[in-house]
Amino acid sequence: MEKYDYLVVGSGLFGATFAYEAAKRGKRVKVIEKRDHIAGNIYTHEVDGIQVHQYGAHIFHTSNKEVWDYIQQFAEFNRYTNSPIANYNGEIYNLPFNMNTFNKLWGVQTPSEAVAEIEQQKQKAHISDNPKNLEEQAISLIGTDIYEKLIKGYTEKQWGKKATELPSFIIRRLPVRLTYDNNYFNDKYQGIPIGGYTQIVKKMLENKLIDVEINTDFFDKKNDYIKNFPKVIFTGMIDQFFDYQLGELEYRSLRFETDELDVNNYQGNAVVNYTDAKTPYTRVIEHKHFEFGKGKEGKTVITREYPANWSRGDEPYYPMNDSKNNELYKKYKDLAQNVPSVIFGGRLGQYRYYDMHQVIHAALTTVTQEFEK
Ligand code: FAD
Ligand code: UDP
Repeated sequence: MEKYDYLVVGSGLFGATFAYEAAKRGKRVKVIEKRDHIAGNIYTHEVDGIQVHQYGAHIFHTSNKEVWDYIQQFAEFNRYTNSPIANYNGEIYNLPFNMNTFNKLWGVQTPSEAVAEIEQQKQKAHISDNPKNLEEQAISLIGTDIYEKLIKGYTEKQWGKKATELPSFIIRRLPVRLTYDNNYFNDKYQGIPIGGYTQIVKKMLENKLIDVEINTDFFDKKNDYIKNFPKVIFTGMIDQFFDYQLGELEYRSLRFETDELDVNNYQGNAVVNYTDAKTPYTRVIEHKHFEFGKGKEGKTVITREYPANWSRGDEPYYPMNDSKNNELYKKYKDLAQNVPSVIFGGRLGQYRYYDMHQVIHAALTTVTQEFEK
């Protein structure tokens, strides 16, 4: 093991970006990955000529030109713009919340009519200007109708908590627009890599100075790894790294149910959200629409996304960034100071609700700190 400069734990976007940059600087890197494939949650694979996003819909979006240019080295991106549809008990609405949504709900035609309607609903609900939780934040942004039909049910099943117990930042991820514009993101750049995401990580890990070992869990030989590698980049769960000694951080898990169907076009859109409380899944994605219908004629692949409680051993898809968990994370971060040979990175290592562009940015920041100090 001594021949390596770095051990990277996890072959997701953070680990792969770090490994790529380290090898570019002549460093020898070993990457270990506990799953049976590389690429973490951005993993895609081909079925019937369709790129299937195994761990849920992944749309790349960023306003950071440096990050956008960076990712283009590894794949060509198409012009896909995310425009999910919401299905509330059979009623169809456009997302994010925009003039198309307001028109369908209230018949309003102009922005000022929409603002007046929202304002009236907000007044009636007696919402303060300083929202304390997700429910108050949502009503203060778009009123009670949209909150009841498009947010409450989805949010409470997604997070397994009452909207009054959730932090307001979660709902601020979604734009509210007074234009007829169904683009889910406000970012300057957006798209899907033609041919899927796995090729990106594969290219990042291609350097001869990088060895990749899949089906290998860091915790099977934690002490040996720490002893034998001069430096470790750890992108797994930070609380697990410390054997949960300060208590467990909370995560939210998911279950994906994927079906190959003998139809050409199942739902007419890549992403359909089911926003009522009763439907057990939050979204259905039809993968071929990410590449504008590319794939075998008469075939399609869909995935239903079911939210799930997390307990040890389950996949921790989302950190639960409320104040209680953020406080606990800070304590783990302090503990991490005592192990300077380990750098914690990514969604799980830094316990942050990072999107892909933020992960790349965070990894490149780590690279700068590590190699340009
Ligand atoms: P991961 O991809 O989780 O990689 C960590 C890797 O480490 C995993 O492969 C894991 O198996 C491995 N690992 C963990 N512990 C160990 C261990 N003990 N030993 C060995 N290996 C280990 N972002 C967007 O920008 N746009 C989107 O549309 C989008 N949609 C998403 C939809 C869903 C359902 C989810 C869950 C996330 C979505 N994201 C999206 C976020 C995106 O997936 C993450 O930002 C990104 O993949 C995080 O990269 P990472 O390297 O930090 O973590
Ligand atoms: N959300 C909602 N209704 C929707 C879509 C999203 O209420 O139709 C809320 C929900 O709380 C969700 C949050 O907005 O967790 C962020 O949505 P996003 O699509 O960014 O979630 P992600 O893709 O990260 O799961």
